[in-house]
Amino acid sequence: MNKFIRSVRLDEDACRGCINCIKHCPTQAIRVHNGKAHITDKFCIDCGRCIRYCPHHAKIPDYDSLNVINNFKYTVALPAPSLYAQYNNLTNVDIVLNALLKLGFDDVFEVSAAAELVSEASRAYIEAHEEEAPFISTACPSIVRLVRVKFPSLIPKLLPFKPPVEVAAEIARKRAMEKTGLASEDIGIIFISPCPSKVSYVKAPLGIKKSQIDNVVAIKEVYPLLLPHMTHDENSLTPLSASGRIGIGWGNSGGEAAGIITDSYLAADGIVNVLRVLEGLEDEKIHGLKFIELNACNGGCVGGVLTVENAYVAESKTKRILRYLPVTQSHLDSYPDVRVKWDSLVEYEPVFRLGSTFKESLHMMKTVEELTKRFPGLDCGSCGAPTCQALAEDIVRGEATVNDCTYVLRDYINRLSDEIELLANAVNENGQSDESLKTLQENIGRLSVELEELFHSTF
Ligand code: SF4
Ligand code: SF4
Repeated sequence: MNKFIRSVRLDEDACRGCINCIKHCPTQAIRVHNGKAHITDKFCIDCGRCIRYCPHHAKIPDYDSLNVINNFKYTVALPAPSLYAQYNNLTNVDIVLNALLKLGFDDVFEVSAAAELVSEASRAYIEAHEEEAPFISTACPSIVRLVRVKFPSLIPKLLPFKPPVEVAAEIARKRAMEKTGLASEDIGIIFISPCPSKVSYVKAPLGIKKSQIDNVVAIKEVYPLLLPHMTHDENSLTPLSASGRIGIGWGNSGGEAAGIITDSYLAADGIVNVLRVLEGLEDEKIHGLKFIELNACNGGCVGGVLTVENAYVAESKTKRILRYLPVTQSHLDSYPDVRVKWDSLVEYEPVFRLGSTFKESLHMMKTVEELTKRFPGLDCGSCGAPTCQALAEDIVRGEATVNDCTYVLRDYINRLSDEIELLANAVNENGQSDESLKTLQENIGRLSVELEELFHSTF
């Protein structure tokens, strides 16, 4: 199985090569070559930031069409808690759950109900392993992917639990099979997601071998289709919801931490803030915490790129929904068979290491340092790499040349022009023998071709 699947792709026709995205990618996964942005799969953590920052809408998130529900005999919708936060004045989540059935799903299972089970298990685990704290949340796949490629020393700190959506999928599949007698392959478990990183998670899950989710559809696709089916006549609603404040609160940054019920926590959202926290943890500058909640998107899952509402408005709408709910409605003892723990720990993927051995990497790092000194240090991005150091690393990996730096290239072109000029003057001088004249003309021809090739490869 390919471990480095990503769910962000490029619309080549729309890409103008403006280099905006390379500046905002937290893992420097993007390079612009020949006027088009290319993502290196193994560096991408699927945070969706390049989608948000591309002014030409050339970065496209991958997800499934809602038509996938026609591929199965029986389908179960798994709505993310952030789905509820898209709607105005929603005080009862059953309005959304009933609308999902009217839209064509045969059943629903709330991810927020599974989140309450994960919260319960996490509380017990953190208490039992207090001396190993702090633990880092693992619900956001982009965070787990970031830790496994950039922060190997923090891997043991990852809370070894499946994300709530996976737990929801397992329960929903089992329940559907028992209810219908259908085979597993006839049942479609469809997640309604706020972000594309869950699409990659389903294809290449972390901590487990195979995901029970069949397809991932976008909140922004489902949102308008639900509107005509949403009734506010509460008497006509079938009671379906099984989650309280703890579960639905997971949609907002800090919601998962609230379910741990401790003051010793930190909740950071937005990938830039997350990086700062992880660096602080790695450098042992953060102390005295039991739990660290990290979300790649601003505001938490409500800020995912597949949502429709502004993250901060959605955050406030979630709080409004929570006001009317009990603390929790789902408990582990009602699901004795459910397994919330990972099957195996996540392994370090040294994708950023330069060489194949420590010695080789050290040698290559020295070359990177020397090369970086040759560049102007402007981090201008004109070479297609986000920084001068990133270009130096690309050169050491054999993926770029020093002439990709427009400043180095300009100096080189100036030198070539001077040489041509000198040679041309020499040709014009009287008294050249036929032989030396021929050599001079050949040299001028060679330098002119070199100059032309450089222009073509660069501009
Ligand atoms: S931001 Fe990136 S993907 Fe978008 S047009 Fe510019 S170079 Fe292309
Ligand atoms: S999704 Fe995130 S990590 Fe991947 S290329 Fe875009 S900005 Fe970089």
